[in-house]
Amino acid sequence: MCRAKYEKCVGITEIEPEYVEIALWCLFMLYKRSHLLSSIILLRITFTIVSQRVMRAAIFHQYQGDINIHNVSDPSPKSHGVVIKVGATGLCRSDWHGWMGHDSDIILPHVPGHELAGTIVALGEGIKNFKIGDRVTVPFVCGCGTCEQCNSGNHQVCDHQSQPGFTHWGSFAEYVALDFADTNLVKIPNEINDVTAATLGCRFITSYRAIVAQGQVTEGQYVAIHGCGGVGLSAIMIAHALGAQVIAIDIKEETLVLAKELGAIHTINASHHNHIIDQVKDLTKGGAHVSVDALGSPQTCFNSIANLRKRGKHIQVGLMVGGHEETKIPMEKVIANELEIIGSHGMQAHKYPEMLDMIVSGKLHPEKLIEKTINLEEATRALPNMNKFESTGVLVINSF
Ligand SMILES: [Zn+2]
Ligand SMILES: [Zn+2]
Repeated sequence: MCRAKYEKCVGITEIEPEYVEIALWCLFMLYKRSHLLSSIILLRITFTIVSQRVMRAAIFHQYQGDINIHNVSDPSPKSHGVVIKVGATGLCRSDWHGWMGHDSDIILPHVPGHELAGTIVALGEGIKNFKIGDRVTVPFVCGCGTCEQCNSGNHQVCDHQSQPGFTHWGSFAEYVALDFADTNLVKIPNEINDVTAATLGCRFITSYRAIVAQGQVTEGQYVAIHGCGGVGLSAIMIAHALGAQVIAIDIKEETLVLAKELGAIHTINASHHNHIIDQVKDLTKGGAHVSVDALGSPQTCFNSIANLRKRGKHIQVGLMVGGHEETKIPMEKVIANELEIIGSHGMQAHKYPEMLDMIVSGKLHPEKLIEKTINLEEATRALPNMNKFESTGVLVINSF
């Protein structure tokens, strides 16, 4: 019998098929009146099964297939890791890419979820900086702490990175295991609740790094944001907090209303306008200083580069997957205008404190990005629909 069928039968992934075979043998021996030995073995099997700690988790067994809630064994920490009781976890388009089969790191069956906040409930023996009961979050890229990239402070591009919800089971569950915890965990200040902290781990930190570190946006600069999902809205808020003049571009009117509330000075509805590049250049008196493709599509990537002023910076944050990996770029403009094309891939844990300070002091309000909180069952239905862009803002699971 396959592993998946066992899960459906008994609700536990870790029950080995041999247990069932031995139990059947015992029943046969009982029938044959070898009572004592068979009873002892049956009791032992029962104890083993009952003593397995289980948790609820959202699992898919095939790409683009149903996502169902199962009881599965809860995780144990590695020596360098911890187990978190998940308090809240965000739904991100990267989870949708994973479910679609766009991420080669995923091994089926799989539990998605990588934007999380919660409380440490188990520690590996090597953990020095954290204790049980600490409330923590984590960047979706967990660096190993020892490779060339980590040694240079760039854990976000670690050579041996692990990513909850991609390289191992994620946080659409009551508990999640995290690796290299001393390097990657971030304590959550008391002023920030779990639901808000769960918005930080992927989209918000990637946008923060895109605007602050990669774009080096300064007061008064023009910043164009193409695509106003979670990443784009975060980037608008962060650029506005730095004093930039933000132009927001999207195809949905409600999203553009929210973009204005978060600080955009102009909005462009791309479904009504064909000449986005010219529009941005007009509104920014010659082109944006920094422009972000926050969606990840050939069109938004091209527009974001082509609407830059001379020596402007394009930051690619939206994932280019599903056949768009090698997209068209206006390279003659890149050369003639000395444009820069830069990626942004998460943010290192050691850079969180400056961002958390801005949240605690009221300069940034990630909670404004949250459309609503949902439960785990609702998430199993919401995730496959993420590409329909029905939500305006971020969905966060806070009931498991
Ligand atoms: Zn590393
Ligand atoms: Zn994400």
